[in-house]
Amino acid sequence: MKKIIIFLTLIFTSVFSLKNDYQAFANNKEDGFSISLPTYEHKTYKNVILFIGDGMGVNTVEATRIYNGGDLAMTDYLDFELLAYSRTDSITSTGFAYDESKNLIDPGVNEELYDGTPSPYGSDSLGTSGNITLYTDSAAGGTALATGQLTTNSRLAMDQFGNPITSILEQASGLGKKTGVLTSDTIDGATPAAFLSHVGARHDKSGILQSIATSPADLIIGQEPSEMKNNRSTYTSLYESKGFDVTFKADDLDINSSRIFSAIPGILPQGIFTPTLEDLTIFSLDYLDNDEGFFLMVEGANIDKQAHANQSILVIEETLGFDHAINAARHWVGDRKDTLIVITADHETGALSFLQDPSTLTKETVIENMKWLSTNHSRSLVRVDVSGDVREYLQKYEDELNYIYDKYYFDHILVNRMLRYYLS
Ligand SMILES: [Zn+2]
Repeated sequence: MKKIIIFLTLIFTSVFSLKNDYQAFANNKEDGFSISLPTYEHKTYKNVILFIGDGMGVNTVEATRIYNGGDLAMTDYLDFELLAYSRTDSITSTGFAYDESKNLIDPGVNEELYDGTPSPYGSDSLGTSGNITLYTDSAAGGTALATGQLTTNSRLAMDQFGNPITSILEQASGLGKKTGVLTSDTIDGATPAAFLSHVGARHDKSGILQSIATSPADLIIGQEPSEMKNNRSTYTSLYESKGFDVTFKADDLDINSSRIFSAIPGILPQGIFTPTLEDLTIFSLDYLDNDEGFFLMVEGANIDKQAHANQSILVIEETLGFDHAINAARHWVGDRKDTLIVITADHETGALSFLQDPSTLTKETVIENMKWLSTNHSRSLVRVDVSGDVREYLQKYEDELNYIYDKYYFDHILVNRMLRYYLS
């Protein structure tokens, strides 16, 4: 019994000292004077897991946390050390400026601009709709997270001129790591496609499936694209020619496959039907784990879809399902110090606000106090939660990282750069 008490004390001591160190950086930045901080050695993580909640803004997470009784895997475990807020603009986001003076629980939008009518979010099929778009789409948001470069809406791992940009998945593969993408969306959805393909327009579905065949990814799991349903034998042959085991049922997933391309119908957030995103996250981690390490991106895609429809309870269910997948990864990692987990979103959807101070809300009252100001994407902030020690990165790029209201401010470029920094 005594041993256990000592062990727990040590854990808590080390966690709190790490938190104090982040606070020391923070105070240093906020007060504008220099304090001497230790210099951290460059450490790398063998494995990096990136979770992207599509459309999951700060308030999406807050509503889900309240509904869940006050805690979530992605926000509240002690080993999730760093929380930052992140901007999500693409090159073509031309909306009003974000107001930094607003409270961070506020979605950061001007309510007068959100009258509930569809906003001019969107893009043409060439992805060149520069100045008619107020907010990022999932293609440009996914591209920025995948490549570290901003681009115009609709581009998938391509810059605004149509030049391909190397993704972190490709970089990880080049380092000899195994790589994978798991999504609850169709495999040709904008977020997975930003990591797996290089295509000028997100609506070019056959182009995306052709391009994915050239990806170095070892594992690709999501729902089956319509384009593939219509030409299943053609695409099955294409992927099999690249060494993939192509499967259409979760039961057929084989951990001994040399490469996996699995198009599974109906990946649900949670519940009695399988597979859930959580089940597939555990399978993916078991499959990718190897001596050289891995990079895995997991997307919770349907948070965005339900937020477009302003379906509060369904948004919360999707976010909870995504959180269960994060919790599973956290337990899978356990005490290992070789795995970095980063959780963020490509953009917020719905400009979710609260009718009352959310700190006064409960599981019983939160749903009726959720107020959607838009049926589209917004420029509201998203969270960046990190499980792992990233003090070295914060120190190295101290001058570029803004620190306001007790939080670091990132954008997708800084998130990508942090991932790359720790992979190599
Ligand atoms: Zn999105």
